[in-house]
Parts: sequence; C-alpha cells; structure tokens
Amino acid sequence: MNEIDKTPAANFIRTIINEDLKSGKNGGRVVVRFPPEPNGYLHIGHAKSICFNFGLTKEYEGGQCYLRMDDTNPAKEEKEYEDAIKGDIEWLGFQWGSLMTHASDYYEVFYEKAELLIKKGLAFVCSLNADEVRAYRGTLTEAGRPSPNRDRSVDENLELFRRMRKGEFPDGTYTLRAKIDMTSGNINLRDPTIYRIRHLEHHRTGKTWCIYPMYDYAHPLNDALEGITHSICTLEFQDHRPLYDWFVANCDMTYRPQQIEFSRLNVNYTVTSKRKLKKLVDSKLVGSWDDPRMPTIRGMRRRGYSPAALRNFCERIGISKKDTIIDMSILEEEIRNDLNENALRGLAVLDPIKVTITNYPDADEVLRVPNHPQKAEMGERDLPFSNTIYIERDDFMEEPSKGFHRLSPGKDARLRYAYVIRCDEVVKDASGQVVELKCTYDVDTKGGQNPKDGHKVKGIIHWVDAKKGVKAEVRLYDRLFKVANPAGLDDADFIAEINPDSLVLRRDAYIEPALAQSAPETRFQFERLGFFTADRKDHDATHPVFNRTVTLRDTWAEKA
Ligand code: ATP
Ligand code: MG
Repeated sequence: MNEIDKTPAANFIRTIINEDLKSGKNGGRVVVRFPPEPNGYLHIGHAKSICFNFGLTKEYEGGQCYLRMDDTNPAKEEKEYEDAIKGDIEWLGFQWGSLMTHASDYYEVFYEKAELLIKKGLAFVCSLNADEVRAYRGTLTEAGRPSPNRDRSVDENLELFRRMRKGEFPDGTYTLRAKIDMTSGNINLRDPTIYRIRHLEHHRTGKTWCIYPMYDYAHPLNDALEGITHSICTLEFQDHRPLYDWFVANCDMTYRPQQIEFSRLNVNYTVTSKRKLKKLVDSKLVGSWDDPRMPTIRGMRRRGYSPAALRNFCERIGISKKDTIIDMSILEEEIRNDLNENALRGLAVLDPIKVTITNYPDADEVLRVPNHPQKAEMGERDLPFSNTIYIERDDFMEEPSKGFHRLSPGKDARLRYAYVIRCDEVVKDASGQVVELKCTYDVDTKGGQNPKDGHKVKGIIHWVDAKKGVKAEVRLYDRLFKVANPAGLDDADFIAEINPDSLVLRRDAYIEPALAQSAPETRFQFERLGFFTADRKDHDATHPVFNRTVTLRDTWAEKA
C-alpha cells in the first residue's frame, strides 16, 4: 500500500470531471493547475492540493497539471521560494514536465486585456487612495458609493493607464478598477482593483513593469489562457467566483474554465497559515523552515515522513466542501503504517547504563540479525556483541514495582537477538546514582532459546554493544503545540501554546554501528523506542544524528 497508492475514492470533483468527460464538455481534456505564490515554503495544506491536482493527471489519460507560479506581487516573492517549491513537489513524487509557467509570463496579455476593458467602458482609472477606496466600498449591510472617477471618459482612462505603465506616477496615486456594481451584495464585485502602481523590481521581469495586476484579475485570465478545464481552489475563493467569471467573459477569453472550490486542510496541534509559520521562524521558536516540527513539506521530510505516507494521508482525508479539522493522529497513523512496513530495524539506547557481563569471554561476537521481522527481502546485518553493553536506564529497577519484568537485582531479562542475562550486582557512584550493572549470561539462550532450567523469561530489552556502538545525538520530536487549536488563536497568543517538550535532546545515546553508517534520510525503527530518521543535514558516520519521526504508539490518545 505504500509504493502503489490506494485507488482514488469518489468525491464531488471527480464526479464533475467524469460527467464533463461523458458529455464531451472540454473535448475530453482534463487540465488543472497548482498555482503557488512564491512567497513562502509549502506546507501540508499545499500537499493536499498538490496530491489532488497532480494526482488527477495519473487518473485521467492525457490529464495535465500546470505548475504555475503566481508571481503577481513583487514585494514578497523570491526565486529562493520558487526553487524550494519545485523541489518539494518533485520530492512528493509529481512532475509538471513542460507545464511550468509564471503569471508574469502573461503580463503583456493582462495589460492588453485591461485596455480592452477600458475601451469597453468596463474599467476606469481611479484617483482614490487605499483608505478612500475602503471607505467608498461600503459594508455587508451598506451599499458602496461610486468613485468620483467612475465616469472618466474612455480616452482619459486610456491615456492615464498608459502613463501609469510608463512610470509617470508614484505608487498609490492611481489604480485601474473594474466597473461592475457598487451596490452588489458581493463586495468582490464593487469595482475591484485590477492594477496598482508599484515601482518595484520583479524577480523575473526586472524593471520592465511598474504596474502589477491583482491576483483576482490575473488568475482567471491565466486559467483561461492555459485552457484549464477545472480550476480547483479552496473555499475562500467561492465568493470570488462571480468576479472570476466576469473577467473571463468580459475580457473575451476564448476558453472559459470552471472554478470549483473544496475545503482547506486544517490539522490540529499545528498551524498552516504562512504568516504564523513565518512568525515561528522569525521568533526563533523553531530552528528554521525545515525544522522537523514544522508542518512544511521540508520540515516533514526532515522529520522522516515519506512521500508515499503523505500521499496516502492526503488521499485518505479526501476532498469535500465541509470545513473540518483533521486529527493529527490520522497523519501520524499513516506515517506509522508506512514506517512499520518500510523502515529498517535497529538497536539504539537513548539513556544508557553500562552492563558488564562478567562470565562472557573477552572476545567479540557478531550476531546476524534481520533488518525487518516480516520482510526477509530487506536483508540481514551484523550486530556486534561483547562483554560490555549499554541498556536503557529505565529497563532496570533496583526495587521493581509489581508487573516490572525487565532487569532488577537477582532477576533476568532477555537481550533482544542475544542472550538471557541476570543482574548480580549494582554499582553506584558517590551520589547513589547507578553507574553499572554486573551481570552473568546463560550461553544456551542465544537468539531466543529458553534457559536450561526451562523457565520463561518475560522481559525482552534492547541494548547496544559498548565497544563497537557509536555515540549519537537523538532528537526526540513531538507535536509542536500542546493545545489542539493553535490555529484559532491570534498571532500573539498561539506562540504561548508551544509544547515545551516538542524537542528533547539526547546527546549521549548509543547506536549500533550499522545505524551510524546509514545514509542521511534512512528510516529506522529503533526497537521498542519508536521510528527515527537519520537527519538530512546533520547526520554522518562520525556524528550520527537521528530525528524521532513518530512514536510507536499514539501516546497523545493514551494521555487523553
Ligand atoms: P496565502 O494566501 O496566505 O499566501 P496560501 O496558503 O493560499 O497562502 P498559495 O501559495 O496561494 O498560498 O497556495 C497555493 C495553492 O495551495 C492554492 O491553490 C491554495 O488554494 C492551496 N492551498 C493553500 N493552503 C491550503 C490548505 N490548507 N489546504 C488545501 N489547499 C491549500
Ligand atoms: Mg493564496
């Protein structure tokens, strides 16, 4: 289920597409687009949109998906973001082939269409400033008032607009506005702005332009120019659809795309607003945009989520018009399902306590152990063993509570893949802290045999050879917020709800040698501990660094 994604479930957009295909509406074409604004890094919400749109091209023969950079605001956009967006989409497993475009590719057409609107008497140059435009616009309960410039002549409008383009006026002096209906119940139709003056260099068009089109104007024309059959967007654009249709019709576009809205993805215990994510980075509450706690695609990648797991998650939550908040546990479950099947197994000790096996010969041994308990095809590896090992501090209890079946004085426990050991002596330092356990092993219990006297050993513990094991840094990540709905809090309040345990460092962990040798981004189950991934940036054989990707069980559900 991980390599081959699940069969797509029915949803209302697939139904619309199927009906359009049946009726021959678009001549059998399915053309969609993903239109990010290159002003930030993509997050899990974008992943949903990417998986759905690019996914359609795999479901429908001949289906096409444009990757269109919506670069209409030179104030906030950068090439760095554009490159990151491309990298993230490819990593998720999708290709746009030759269908990579930019809104800025069409600036000349947008301009010509704006002149066309002026000539038709459907657009005018307005001298009101931003505050005045707002005041004239009215409210939901109160009609707007027409701009004093609404009846400027076509010739005067054309002349002013051409001079705007030439750069004769400073920012903010004029705008070009559509002439629609100042009394409309839909505020988007109250003479919306089409162009504004911005003397700014654009990362692609340089200084060619000093007037830039608004998103609501550029976007529908862009869709029409590219022959997008189904322009799929999120629900907040529903009220913009009449405007979208108005621009397409009045600009005499030969092709008329259909805009269809679905609900945004929201996930609890995290935030998906670009503004909030940026605040986390700028306030240094996380390391960077790719901090493994961030719901950005790069953050999730670094955490160890696989593209297949994310695709499965996006398909599982589905597409609908209902606004819902998806439980983080659903995402984590998809991650776990994927890792359970595909992650290599390994042994690591996060909080080590030394164990000396006093009756074990002073010679090293190498055990051959499977990389996955159910999948022989994943191979085997060498696991060194000797008379000095580390075990997890909490796998030992000096005075065992009832039901504790691991190591305690006089009791035995099984070392995973190795032998049964018995604890004979507890060594403490001056402060009373346990620093070493002296144990003896039973040679006949190798690899899971019962002790000679036949008694069953209940506790199995993990361990790492102290001689060949490698010291490692392990970063224990957890949910970034301690409350379910940080997205509902305002910018000042949401950062107060960061989970203080969202990152716990273990700098003195030990890992078996095979883990240290693994390539960055290799995913493991550290047996009994959780799923961990070799850090993409910081891990190497001499300084291994592992990120906890997800716990073995849903510990948040257990807490609740
Ligand atoms: P902003 O409008 O704040 O810049 P945005 O999240 O809308 O942010 P875009 O780059 O415009 O960012 O988004 C690109 C595409 O991704 C849009 O089509 C948008 O509808 C879609 N998208 C963004 N966030 C989500 C989400 N949470 N769920 C589903 N789709 C989303
Ligand atoms: Mg947007």
